[in-house]
Amino acid sequence: MDYFPLFYQITNRPCLVVGGGEVAARKVTLLLKAGAKVTVVSPELGPTLAQWKAENKISHIADKFSPEQIEQQALIIACTDDEAINQQVHETAVKNNIPVNVVDNPKLCTFVVPSIIDRSPVVAAVSTGGASPVLARLIRARLETMIPAGYGKLASIAAAFRGKVKERFSNPADRRIFWEKILQGSIAEMVFSGHEKEAEQAIDKALIESDEVSMGEVYLVGAGPGDPDLLTFRALRLMQQADVIVNDRLVSKEIMELCRRDAEIIYVGKERDKHAVPQEDINQLLVRLAREGKRVCRLKGGDPFIFGRGGEEIDTLAEEGVQFQVVPAITAASGAASYAGIPLTHRDYSQAVVFVTGNRKDGTVNLNWDALAHENQTIVFYMGLMGLDVICQQMMAHGLSEKTPVALVQKATTPEQKVFIGDLATMPDIVKNSDIKPPTLIIVGEVVKLHEKLSWFQS
Ligand code: SAH
Repeated sequence: MDYFPLFYQITNRPCLVVGGGEVAARKVTLLLKAGAKVTVVSPELGPTLAQWKAENKISHIADKFSPEQIEQQALIIACTDDEAINQQVHETAVKNNIPVNVVDNPKLCTFVVPSIIDRSPVVAAVSTGGASPVLARLIRARLETMIPAGYGKLASIAAAFRGKVKERFSNPADRRIFWEKILQGSIAEMVFSGHEKEAEQAIDKALIESDEVSMGEVYLVGAGPGDPDLLTFRALRLMQQADVIVNDRLVSKEIMELCRRDAEIIYVGKERDKHAVPQEDINQLLVRLAREGKRVCRLKGGDPFIFGRGGEEIDTLAEEGVQFQVVPAITAASGAASYAGIPLTHRDYSQAVVFVTGNRKDGTVNLNWDALAHENQTIVFYMGLMGLDVICQQMMAHGLSEKTPVALVQKATTPEQKVFIGDLATMPDIVKNSDIKPPTLIIVGEVVKLHEKLSWFQS
């Protein structure tokens, strides 16, 4: 280890920054965040530092660096483009035993400034010892996705309960077990989803009846249309923390591979020639697993609240008193539209967009055609392949031109995405003569014309 990692207290202490440009401003930002009293030495200041000077956030010595400025400083950062000055700052600091960092010059540094993930009071720092700041930044970006934004709040709540928990559990091992349950279970999730008050009440309750913490919970998570890159941070985190994953057909293999390695996987989708697990059984399964104390990730394609029957699943959970949360996601219409270069609305062509299911509960395609068949609006049919003939006929019968453009997007956002373009008159035949693989989405409206110009996804 080339450097000793530590976090340094500089609140209300003098810190010196030599240099007045934008790099200096970035360093000053960090120092101010940590509560330092910053003095900037530079004959001139860039716009950011000049503004902070005007707002009295920093002191300014409008001169060149000279050694006596170093006295009493808690730390020094130099970022001038004059090597002789950088060298002089380094030497003076070392002589006075004051930590010094010369930006982009590891040889002149007695400390390095890490890349940080700031969830104050939680701060994670990454350093490559100056070897590659870019690599440190990439590692930081990965950690950013894994450390929820709510960790700061969680830490503050933990701090507030520290005394009470110590009083309740005199044995340190019991305390540790208690905190482990709180910090990674349903109570932590309450904090992450903005329900701090409820979390505090739950901790109080758990302190009285400590089994309460072992109750499981259900995450109803949208997995997006297929491309794993389109997952949300929260979806990924919950997929990696759940004990059980309950998934269905629409969740892609690549996304399943991102789930926790040792999680139990329960597939409830339709197998070829077989039926899917009935909805009521899925609802009951989720309740049972949560009651067993498990963290259950119910993973669904697209967004759980758009033709995903998410409402029915949480209805049962709410009735049975099981803790749950819903994680929204990119719905197939958004994914298909972006990846096929078909904006769903456009000032020149479409002022409204309607999402509709082409498949009614009883298997018919019986829609309010008068409301759907309008120019200047885009209609996206989910589950519409079976009813495509009826859809095209009815849209024409209710006033749309047979030349109204139609796109069928197969397996949107996946490597097997294909876009078929036609119009209301030709689309049924195009589909009959092609080998179409589900899932598919049908987009009707003038915006489809933009596909040729705007598509960027190779298909
Ligand atoms: N909750 C999902 C929709 C579930 S309904 C969502 O928000 O996207 C299932 C229908 O969604 C499929 O029949 C198909 O019409 C559409 N669909 C889902 N994923 C798709 C994809 N990758 N490409 C095209 N259509 C998709």
